[in-house]
Amino acid sequence: KPHIVWLRRDLRLADQAAFHAAAALGPVIPVYVLDDETPRHRRMGAASRWWLHHSLEALAKELEAQGSRLILRRGKAADVLAALTQETGAGAIHALRHVEPWWRMAEKELAKAVDLRLYDGLYLLPPGSLRTGGGTPYKIFTPFKNALMDAIGDVDVLPAPKLSAPESWPVSDKLSDWALLPTKPDWAGGFHEAWTPGSAAALARMEAFKAILGPYRQDREMPSIDGTSRLSPHLHFGEVSPRQLWHAIAGMEGQGPGFFKAELIWRDYAANLVQQFPDYGARSYRDGYDDGLWRNPDTDDSAAADLAAWQQGRTGYPIVDAGMRQLWHTGWMHNRVRMIAASFLVKHLLIDWRQGEAWFWDTLVDADYPSNATNWQWVSGTGVDSNMFVRIMAPLSQSEKFDAGAYIRQWVPELAKLSDPYVHDPESFHCRPRDYPAPVIGHREGRERALAAYKAMKG
Ligand code: FAD
Repeated sequence: KPHIVWLRRDLRLADQAAFHAAAALGPVIPVYVLDDETPRHRRMGAASRWWLHHSLEALAKELEAQGSRLILRRGKAADVLAALTQETGAGAIHALRHVEPWWRMAEKELAKAVDLRLYDGLYLLPPGSLRTGGGTPYKIFTPFKNALMDAIGDVDVLPAPKLSAPESWPVSDKLSDWALLPTKPDWAGGFHEAWTPGSAAALARMEAFKAILGPYRQDREMPSIDGTSRLSPHLHFGEVSPRQLWHAIAGMEGQGPGFFKAELIWRDYAANLVQQFPDYGARSYRDGYDDGLWRNPDTDDSAAADLAAWQQGRTGYPIVDAGMRQLWHTGWMHNRVRMIAASFLVKHLLIDWRQGEAWFWDTLVDADYPSNATNWQWVSGTGVDSNMFVRIMAPLSQSEKFDAGAYIRQWVPELAKLSDPYVHDPESFHCRPRDYPAPVIGHREGRERALAAYKAMKG
């Protein structure tokens, strides 16, 4: 009997327990189901679809090289897979366990119809497996990190299994029929320059990154330096597992590897929160914030204009605009700038973090439900562990502090001729070019409005 491997965001062969288990039992049918029904409004965004197309193409090639195939089907995953099990006479469906609430629902539903076998493998440790002394899952990052460091031990990874083909293959959709790529306008030109989706490229990126891991602790804060791994979309789609990365840097000493491990632990921490709080991306986890703190772009024209300026990178704050334009052109934004841009939306513009989260969901190639929600709630001060709302980042001094001049000149062509320090704050230096917008709100004014709104919310 053949065995089905159901793929979602685990598009790799090595260190993939579902493939491993299925291959040990018989011929394997690898299947990807494009499911826009189960996630509903959480269907994959446009940038993710671009990535998915190329990642599936890469995986299909890898499978074909060993005489296997990737079967593509479309529809509600639980129904499609139950039908495919009947059609192929498959013994069982094997899959990696996912933490997103809609995937947990689909897993539950499918398990009623077929023999569904779930394995861990998306995170360093299974979400929910680490417990406090009181037996509850962790809510706060630092104790979570300490517990994970204590628990993880030596990390082994599974090799890629040899797959045998079933006697006959079920029919497959054609990837090009899914229309995952943009047509008119084709906004993905910069994506091609920035990225090569697929496992082979992910591993090559990790190897290249090892060479710059030494100064990672400092360099990762500097948007003008290419000092981070840029592995986030590869990790999101599971082209490489975090355990493979952990394994790859085992034995490397120093602060660079240590800080990199801490970032991987943030990813696990986010999944651990969503495991406990499935609606973490849908509502603020501190009281009051969702009832009246925010300016509402649906009913307030000036809030709508501010939101559009933020999305388009036309706020008049160079560091924010550079970040938002990097996002639009490449589907990725530097972490330091994500924090500045997110804080600016939520505090200076007083717009609900869920508006920003939704924009990131559509435009990031690494859009990830747990990580996106956790970071937005962190920046906004609304999360179970987060910054305080009243600690308001000053975008212009952040820009100077993290030496973002070259980054701004790269992404905001209107400012390309301005040198430091003028480029950080052309308005105050009276050198704002005519084609660059004036700040949508002054820093002090924005700060005071946010603090006043917060005070009013607290009553
Ligand atoms: P590196 O510095 O090389 O870090 C290595 C890996 O660690 C990353 O690839 C990522 O998987 C993980 N990581 C690093 N920082 C974080 C973090 N703060 N939280 C969770 N995981 C982290 N990351 C996403 O993967 N998807 C998102 O949708 C996402 N949304 C974000 C929204 C906001 C408002 C902010 C402030 C951050 C968000 N991040 C998100 C986290 C972080 O910005 C990115 O993971 C990081 O910039 C990716 O670049 P890198 O791979 O070069 O990171």
